[in-house]
Amino acid sequence: MSDQVILQAIDVVKHFGGGDGWLTRAPVVQAVDGLSFDVMRGETFAIVGESGCGKSTLARLLMRLLSQTSGDVLFEGRQISSVEGEELRKLRRDMQFIFQDPFSSLNPRMTVGKLVGEPLEVHAPELSARERRSKVATLLRQVGLRQEHADRYPHEFSGGQRQRVGIARALASGPKLIIGDEPVSALDVSVQAQVINLLGDISRELGLTLVIIAHDLGVIRHMSDRVAVMYLGRIVEIGSTEDVFTDPKHPYTQALLAAIPSMDGKRTDHSATVKGEMPSPSDPPSGCRFHTRCPYAQDRCRSETPHLSPGARRSHQVACHFSETLERPASLVAPKPRSETVEARFALYRAATEGGTVKHLKNPNQHQQTERT
Ligand code: SF4
Repeated sequence: MSDQVILQAIDVVKHFGGGDGWLTRAPVVQAVDGLSFDVMRGETFAIVGESGCGKSTLARLLMRLLSQTSGDVLFEGRQISSVEGEELRKLRRDMQFIFQDPFSSLNPRMTVGKLVGEPLEVHAPELSARERRSKVATLLRQVGLRQEHADRYPHEFSGGQRQRVGIARALASGPKLIIGDEPVSALDVSVQAQVINLLGDISRELGLTLVIIAHDLGVIRHMSDRVAVMYLGRIVEIGSTEDVFTDPKHPYTQALLAAIPSMDGKRTDHSATVKGEMPSPSDPPSGCRFHTRCPYAQDRCRSETPHLSPGARRSHQVACHFSETLERPASLVAPKPRSETVEARFALYRAATEGGTVKHLKNPNQHQQTERT
């Protein structure tokens, strides 16, 4: 494995259930089914898909919060499933997690100072109490909070501030890689932009690698270098963010992009929007798992599983039998600029932060100031 690859998934499978019940055998839920990809040192790698596609399970597998059914996850060339003791402690220091809901991930009975200082007690026990307090103050400043915030409790903060506390806590151990499971989806639109910008700034400043799990393609477009699109436990398209957004080849990716709302709140292209519900991962469709919702499905799609197109591991790859011959939806023929909604978010954020004052904007159409951070 090249030194440039920090994290590698090799044919990772995670199935749940399947045990014997009283009368019947429980169904096997195929949450993740044969995923392979590399994450490069210093990049932001995004994994996107609808709720239930297996992306959160994948995040937990990458962090060793779950064990895979088969396959391997390698961090800096080491199989994470086999590390124990001191090696496991180092792994926990090097790989940190940011949760979707900052409120439920922070102990309400601990002050912010204690919450951010706790990882230091584990990973930097040599620090004195005074050095730890000073380090906590630095971490709080790094995420845009003030030293006096250390004495407050999580319920005294807004959602965006609580996520900043979560980020400071993740940074405390000096990690090489941070995995964020929908790190901004629980936040207001404008606060999302602040937290995304913060993550981007910190990762550049510290040379961190980020793996971001999200369902919002607008978020991904702004912050990621490469993106993998998941559908029902499998990767259907992977490539640089620019390639995937300007030349989406899989019908599912096209549908997700078409569903990004425009400034007036309307979808950009109804004809390309994916129809129906995602099938159950305990009974996935045969062949191409997307065939029950794909407008281009043919007989071959129902019987033969499409695999990611051959090519270099980090090239633009797609898992569709007909990706080269499909006619693109009209709205996707020309490369699309970054979504207007996302542009608006960041324009508002820039305007709101002029003069060093961060204001809380409810949505792109509401230009009022309601909160200082
Ligand atoms: Fe659609 Fe067939 Fe391609 Fe699957 S393989 S995405 S069903 S055209």
